[in-house]
Amino acid sequence: MHVNKKVLISGASIAGPTLAFWLSKYGFDVTIVERSKSLRMGGQNLDIRGAGRAVARMMGIEKEILAANTGEIGLQFVDSDNKVKAAFPSDGAGSFTSEAEILRGDLVNILYNHTKNDVEYVFGKHITAINQHDNKVNVTFNDDNKEAYDLLIAADGVRSTTRALIFGDEPKVKFTGLYNAWYTIPKIETDTQWARWYTATGSRVMLIRPDNHGTVRASFSFLSDDADIQKLSAGEQKKILKEKLSGAGWEEKRLTDEIEKSDDVYFDGISQIHAPRWFNGRTGMIGDAAYCPTPLTGMGTTLAIVGAYLLAAELSRHNKHEDAFIAYEKCMRPFVEKVQSLPPGVPWLAHPKSKFGVAVVNTVAGILASSFVKRIGKLFESKNKDVTKDEIELPDFKTV
Ligand SMILES: Cc1cc2nc3c(=O)[nH]c(=O)nc-3n(C[C@H](O)[C@H](O)[C@H](O)COP(=O)(O)OP(=O)(O)OC[C@H]3O[C@@H](n4cnc5c(N)ncnc54)[C@H](O)[C@@H]3O)c2cc1C
Repeated sequence: MHVNKKVLISGASIAGPTLAFWLSKYGFDVTIVERSKSLRMGGQNLDIRGAGRAVARMMGIEKEILAANTGEIGLQFVDSDNKVKAAFPSDGAGSFTSEAEILRGDLVNILYNHTKNDVEYVFGKHITAINQHDNKVNVTFNDDNKEAYDLLIAADGVRSTTRALIFGDEPKVKFTGLYNAWYTIPKIETDTQWARWYTATGSRVMLIRPDNHGTVRASFSFLSDDADIQKLSAGEQKKILKEKLSGAGWEEKRLTDEIEKSDDVYFDGISQIHAPRWFNGRTGMIGDAAYCPTPLTGMGTTLAIVGAYLLAAELSRHNKHEDAFIAYEKCMRPFVEKVQSLPPGVPWLAHPKSKFGVAVVNTVAGILASSFVKRIGKLFESKNKDVTKDEIELPDFKTV
């Protein structure tokens, strides 16, 4: 029997259930606590690439992921009259749309369905205190219940509060200066199978993408030096979003009206997590909580899936959790560092301030061979089939 058998995971999104999938296969006894009362299904397209696809294949879920494709046929840059200035079809070079493009909620659902029989899920629960010693980690929950575990892994996202309980303020949250809101809105006649990108003055971008649920996914991003917006309440954030949308043109009215109605607005200051260590005694973290690379890289989900797979495999191979953590970090950290290095000019290049800047983005986006577009293409680089950022050599663990 494995010495670290009883594992608590915090967070039921991508990293947590993937880790639970593998740990339960290796014979661990796994519980996941999720702060929300149910699975959080919001968000837009996530893509799973390279080693992430390989792990999904080993989990037997790759076909389900491909079948849940959003149906997006590519990306169009449009002007305020919705005139197409440039188009990047999904099968072309430098495509924004990847083959394994899936709505976040659909992926969360697939992972949940493949783990719910082997893993205990507890919703509406989160950790409020941790006290670890040589043999166990004692955890207190928001309902004041206490429980002892062999290991605790935080997989509760970029804003993880469990991370602070484990490491204090040691990990650095590096704000990129970009805010992004994602939300689901009703489909209307003008929506097509193309994703449409509109660049407005004042460093603002709107994006509307098709989905496979009869709705569409809206995103609105803007640059701001004010790092405190992310600390405001959801209501105050909606107010700021509406102010920022004001005067942007194109589908401004629709996106503003829908923000008010929507109950699935996911809004965040786009930040990277840099942590000098990922483990402390019997506790640790994976996924966005540990090494969020930002959606600008298109690699957050791949990192979460690959990290979960590797950590579970190392824990299954080592009797001492300390040895497993060292082996995991040795393999994972170089990959994380490669993914986290954002190309120069991101995110500012795609969010011009002036009318002139907007005209430049739209005009030059039409000239596919130009070097400027290649720089814009850097934004989408990680989705490009030719790039190598998603490369990590997965050790072949034949233990399952
Ligand atoms: C609602 C939502 C919408 C998103 N939309 C997008 C998107 O449109 N585009 C994009 O690129 N990325 C999006 N993301 C982020 C994306 O899912 C991650 O970047 C990536 O998939 C890595 O996943 P993760 O499991 O590490 O973290 P996350 O996906 O962030 O999941 C963290 C999970 O932990 C839960 N949680 C948080 N705090 C606690 C706590 N204290 N105790 C227990 N549970 C807790 C959260 O409710 C969530 O279920 C979204 C995340 C969420 C939660």
